[in-house]
Amino acid sequence: MRIDVLGVEFDNLTLAEAVDRAQALAGGEGFHYVVTPNPEIVMTAQKDPAFQKVLSGADLVLPDGIGVIKAAAILGRPLKERVPGIDVAVALMGRMAGSGTRLFLLGAKPGVAEAAAEKLRAAYPGLQICGTHDGYFQDDAPVVEAIRAARAEVVFVCLGAPKQEFWMARNGPETGAKLMLGLGGVLDVFAGAVERAPERWQRMGLEWLYRLIREPSRIGRMARLPLFLVQAYRAKWGGKE
Ligand code: UDP
Repeated sequence: MRIDVLGVEFDNLTLAEAVDRAQALAGGEGFHYVVTPNPEIVMTAQKDPAFQKVLSGADLVLPDGIGVIKAAAILGRPLKERVPGIDVAVALMGRMAGSGTRLFLLGAKPGVAEAAAEKLRAAYPGLQICGTHDGYFQDDAPVVEAIRAARAEVVFVCLGAPKQEFWMARNGPETGAKLMLGLGGVLDVFAGAVERAPERWQRMGLEWLYRLIREPSRIGRMARLPLFLVQAYRAKWGGKE
């Protein structure tokens, strides 16, 4: 059963459980997609019913970000743990390297996906990266065709939210891929363009602070986080959700 956190229903899974599920979807029949909403995405969905529908239509809805975990706890419906999209991607790549699953990298500025592919091939010997495409295109059709021609089974879709979620829902079935994951800025991290917070910061739930220090321009976006927790308290005390 999914857990509602301020309008978005999350799957209540540990990281390990989520990776098992994702791997099963990649090896199964038909098309599936995974979303990893953070508080910012949940707040966007509150104002956009079409986006909310795309999120709830996902096969896995995973809580990316400490804010979602805290809000769920405030609401009295705790989620097991934070399941960051990047951690799911890393664990999946370890498994895909062993199984020979074909992975396509879509998104980020021109050159970034290729650079990420090179680094990932070195990091995961045996990983089959069957194609890449940047995220700054006008027409979907050639990108769909590139994924299809590469016979990709899994696609990391890194176009930022809500673009990537709409893109997966709209185009995924046409590509022939089994599984797409909407992963925001991870290709920049894999390419080495953006550094991830040290593990200690991650464990303390302070990855957001580290990112803010490194990229102060994110302050406008992050200023919405306290508002998100206020919403959770209001829902709890006011009985309004
Ligand atoms: N991006 C893209 N196409 C676009 C807009 C954004 O490929 O039209 C990429 C952008 O280059 C970046 C990622 O999407 O690599 C979004 O990164 P951000 O850090 O904003 O995402 P978050 O992880 O915070 O959702």
